[in-house]
Amino acid sequence: MIESIALSIKQKALELGYEKCGIIPIPMLDGYQEKLEERVKNVPDSGVFYKGQQRLAHVQEEFPWAKSVIILTVPYSKYHVPENVSGHIGKSYLFDVRIDENTTEYQQSRQLELYLQSLGLKVEINRKFGVVGMRWAALQAGLGIIRRNNFFYTESGSWVHLEAFLIDMELELKSNTTLPPCPKNCDRCIKACPTASLCNAYTMNPLRCISFLTTFGGRNLPQEPMAENFGEWIYGCDVCQDVCPMNHKKWAAQEAFPGLTELAPSLTAEALLNMGEDFYRDKVQPKFFYLTADELWKWKVNALNYIKNHYQEQYRQLVLDALESPYPKVREMAESICVLYSIDKN
Ligand code: SF4
Ligand code: SF4
Repeated sequence: MIESIALSIKQKALELGYEKCGIIPIPMLDGYQEKLEERVKNVPDSGVFYKGQQRLAHVQEEFPWAKSVIILTVPYSKYHVPENVSGHIGKSYLFDVRIDENTTEYQQSRQLELYLQSLGLKVEINRKFGVVGMRWAALQAGLGIIRRNNFFYTESGSWVHLEAFLIDMELELKSNTTLPPCPKNCDRCIKACPTASLCNAYTMNPLRCISFLTTFGGRNLPQEPMAENFGEWIYGCDVCQDVCPMNHKKWAAQEAFPGLTELAPSLTAEALLNMGEDFYRDKVQPKFFYLTADELWKWKVNALNYIKNHYQEQYRQLVLDALESPYPKVREMAESICVLYSIDKN
């Protein structure tokens, strides 16, 4: 009976369009706390960052009724990356299906939630930030492997979102992955990391990561020495995934992501610097929710940092205009560009 419920859930998930589905009892998540401690031990600076993850290591304190976690993979490599944002905005953010109701992936998630409820199960999901350590749960369920760049890989490469539901029934349904490990001497991801955030296999300092510093971290980029290593990234970074041979030919790019073709021209450095608050709040912030409705200034600083790293004469007026910005950090970043490139302000 229990076994057939687990199989029915998996079958439903696959029918809805998920790539993989596993179910594990909550005690199987136990090793997550140890992993967090190991990370902090290896990179003591990261303690502040992982403090925020502690809630994921103590699921039962918040949800004492939970018995199992259903963990699912959702590939996003079928989507086309518009030229004007390619290499500037991280793909997981461009194709973030977690809360975008216009996507089939969001709808499949809602349908699965309703299906679980129709089975009489109590269900909990946190679509934005997760209810468990996602990669750890997916690993325990045998859905794939974690590679040296810390990303979770399935047969679709690392281009997969993970999604988890807590349920109040003890079930178990695991898979066996046949994915090969990282090649013995491969360290491409570590060598390619622009800020040395990924400093060793399975070891990173999240506080140095461009994805952190251009989104929910990095509130003082004008004074951040690593900002000159951000290259062309404005929001997020895919370098350690893009260089990985295990991602070779994994990006299919057949479909347009809902609304992205229309939005992409507004996400260039130039467009961001000219963007008004209303447009930002309506069109940009709901999609890129790691920055709040009051943080358009942060996007503008990120855009100026891109310009600082790739200054050309065509940006001169944008930089001069930014000197008059109402946002202090934007003015400070513009000032630093003027100093670096000896731009005449008169
Ligand atoms: S996302 Fe970019 S900055 Fe962060 S670890 Fe990977 S390569 Fe380094
Ligand atoms: S680049 Fe090499 S070492 Fe890094 S995750 Fe990919 S296969 Fe593993």
